[in-house]
Amino acid sequence: MEHDMDFENRIIAPEYLSEDSDIETSLRPRTLNEYIGQEKAKENLNIYIEAAKGRGETLDHVLLYGPPGLGKTTLAGIIANEMGVNVRITSGPAIEKPGDLAALLTNLSDGDVLFIDEIHRLSKSVEEVLYPAMEDSALDIIIGKGPSARSIRIDLPNFTLVGATTRAGQLTAPLRDRFGVILRLELYTPEELGRIVTRSADILGIGIEPNGAFEIAARSRGTPRIANRLLKRSRDFAQVIGNGVITEDNAKIALGRMEIDPLGLDNIDRLLLTSMIKNYNGGPVGLETIAAAIGEESITIEDVYEPYLMQLGFLSRTPRGRVVTPAGYKHLGIEFQEK
Ligand code: ADP
Repeated sequence: MEHDMDFENRIIAPEYLSEDSDIETSLRPRTLNEYIGQEKAKENLNIYIEAAKGRGETLDHVLLYGPPGLGKTTLAGIIANEMGVNVRITSGPAIEKPGDLAALLTNLSDGDVLFIDEIHRLSKSVEEVLYPAMEDSALDIIIGKGPSARSIRIDLPNFTLVGATTRAGQLTAPLRDRFGVILRLELYTPEELGRIVTRSADILGIGIEPNGAFEIAARSRGTPRIANRLLKRSRDFAQVIGNGVITEDNAKIALGRMEIDPLGLDNIDRLLLTSMIKNYNGGPVGLETIAAAIGEESITIEDVYEPYLMQLGFLSRTPRGRVVTPAGYKHLGIEFQEK
């Protein structure tokens, strides 16, 4: 990970943290029916899966994009499960050389799903191996060097590539064009997250009242991974300060102690907004300037902080830079002045 320590330890980081490992697997939905929300993506996917199954064919390559923690890896597993095949999971940065990818591809069984997370981070030379693999289920291997070098083609099993990226715009055109299905995942609504929290509590055997689930859901930044993490932490509080059941009251106390405000903002979100207000009169401010002011990488701000602040309507993107909205001022308790 390229983030600094603060971000790594951030309780509402949407990216995978080591503390998630004990629950992540058991909480992963295995079928489309179990997968909550993302109705549009789910409906389309369901049709493509049924159609491919009906024809006895491999599913077309699928590109999933959207912020981290929304269920891309989970969907890849579901696709494999629904198609009755295996899934191999890897990521762009893990595939260092063309040979690594060739080894992965030749080891697949017919129809398998290959999931490549952070696919926008594949190197050019690795990406080039992927083109004929995606198009013709073939691998072009160069034998020899210099003028006597020649290329031989070997056949691969048919497979479905499921690529995931936080930023579809960073994919090269030739790669993007080779995906037959492109699905955008959206931040979840508090209502959907409430259902996810309730389902997770059920699986983990955690007692929770509906208002407790809603309290957690409303502060999870539209992100299931965060919702599950906050559920786990809230259980600790419920056990120590309550009778073990998560209620609205003890969830509020727990989330307050974690310094997550009623809308799910943490210190870094608030720092971002207040520094824009205090130092730049609320904007417009360029992304790089904000990044420097709060000591975060601009890519993290774009992928992680902004989507949620924009969903809340606290921040907007304009051609001249980022702007804190009157609603953003209000949430921070700072008076908005017309410019
Ligand atoms: P991503 O690959 O997009 O970072 P994951 O697929 O790893 O996200 O999902 C993170 C966690 O959130 C998983 O443990 C999973 O249990 C949960 N999750 C994600 N999407 C859903 C969903 N639609 N319904 C229920 N749980 C979900």
